[in-house]
Amino acid sequence: MKLVMKFGGTSMAGAEKIRHAASLALAQAAQHEVVCVVSAMDGVTEQLLELAAAAGHGNRSAMLAVLAEIRTAHERAAKELGCVSEMEAALVKLETLASGIGAIGELTPRSNDAVVAFGERLSTLLMGKAMNCPALDGAQAGIVTNDHFTSADPLMELSLFQVRQKLGVLLAPGKPVVVSGFIAANQHGVTTTLGRGGSDYTATILGAAIKADEIWIWSDVDGMMTADPRVVPTAKLLSAISFAEAVEMGKFGAKSMHPRALEPAAEHHIPVRMRNTFKPDNPGTLIGAQTRLAGSDAGSTTKREVTAVPALKNMAIITVGGATMIGRPGTAAAIFDALALARVNVHMICQSVSESGISIAVSAAQCDLARGALERAINAALGEKTARAIDTQTGVSIVAPVGDGMKGTPGIAARVFTAIARSGINVIAIAQGSSERSIALAVMDKDGPEAVRALHSEFGLG
Ligand code: ADP
Ligand code: ASP
Ligand code: MG
Repeated sequence: MKLVMKFGGTSMAGAEKIRHAASLALAQAAQHEVVCVVSAMDGVTEQLLELAAAAGHGNRSAMLAVLAEIRTAHERAAKELGCVSEMEAALVKLETLASGIGAIGELTPRSNDAVVAFGERLSTLLMGKAMNCPALDGAQAGIVTNDHFTSADPLMELSLFQVRQKLGVLLAPGKPVVVSGFIAANQHGVTTTLGRGGSDYTATILGAAIKADEIWIWSDVDGMMTADPRVVPTAKLLSAISFAEAVEMGKFGAKSMHPRALEPAAEHHIPVRMRNTFKPDNPGTLIGAQTRLAGSDAGSTTKREVTAVPALKNMAIITVGGATMIGRPGTAAAIFDALALARVNVHMICQSVSESGISIAVSAAQCDLARGALERAINAALGEKTARAIDTQTGVSIVAPVGDGMKGTPGIAARVFTAIARSGINVIAIAQGSSERSIALAVMDKDGPEAVRALHSEFGLG
């Protein structure tokens, strides 16, 4: 069997956890071909982002403070795992890089990637030592991307080909390989990163390349749950879900997985198993197994309509309105072109049938960026008076019942809205894609948890 195992930051937090992760991988590596993908130690990516920002502002004292924290955690782990001198060399490189950025006081997306990549470089060094096997970064393993620094897109065909070549000669039962998640390089060999949560994506790209039998994503939770257990205490673990459900759930924040991570696995029909590093006997959640009947939980015989109720907080709704938009082709194109150009991620779209308004949900963090881009572009493309108003509403949550069983089942929407109305919650906007696998409701953040609980209970998920 060929296995890719990805260990998230929570599984890599310190030498003891790294040793434990290594033992889980080595247990499989005796009989199988195993590729281990590792994230940075928990919290280190955030620290590196802070470091890069401090360097960009030329704030030397802030830089030194973050560097000291990063150094302490990694030196301690390196000492326990016996790679002190390699770690020292890598930390010096990071310090030199940060000083260079600090000296100019200018941070670019490219230099930001160079700094942030150190999280995975350092954890890969530690895991390679713990497993006593070759350790490569994502670029050395063959992943090539475009130049979109900080969220680069893999050149997929080339990457798959190169990974197959490079890992193919190294892998064998008893001969595992460690590969850093998140990091790749453009075609000139300059370091890029795949975006936050990108180690998941690395794992599925490698899995597709080597034609893995399964991809295991190890974290500190049992798997996908019917809702966030902090919001719904009775939330249950899902034993099996489809790729389509997992993609919808990921989009609405059930798990902070990279949004494109499931693409390579789905396309190449490779099941992804989410597992808990600290409870390795639990089976976890199996995503995309062939045996599952759509709309029913593998563990039960009752038909499942709604599978889960994920929610996304801290969103904003931007509404572009104005009567002269009516019947005017090109308005929607202008809106979405502008957002794409500004690299704004659109989470939900609704248009009234009267065509007099288009509402778009974006993260609150991108709200100002989106608004500015829309104002400029719409005025330029369609004339000053066309979009008379751009309204923004922040503090919004998107709550989205998700499930393959929703497709073609009449009455689901009615039950969703009745349950929400019964709780006295006002719905700001609604969207249902034609896949019919989710209905997204925008509500105020303060109403989000209650909306999730109402729907979780309406569909008997607890
Ligand atoms: P890792 O780096 O180990 O992959 P993440 O960055 O994904 O971990 O963050 C893990 C945290 O995200 C968990 O501790 C938990 O708080 C939250 N989380 C992840 N998956 C789920 C889930 N399915 N349901 C609820 N919370 C989750
Ligand atoms: N370390 C990166 C992040 O925190 C990538 C990952 O963990 O998947 O986003
Ligand atoms: Mg993580």
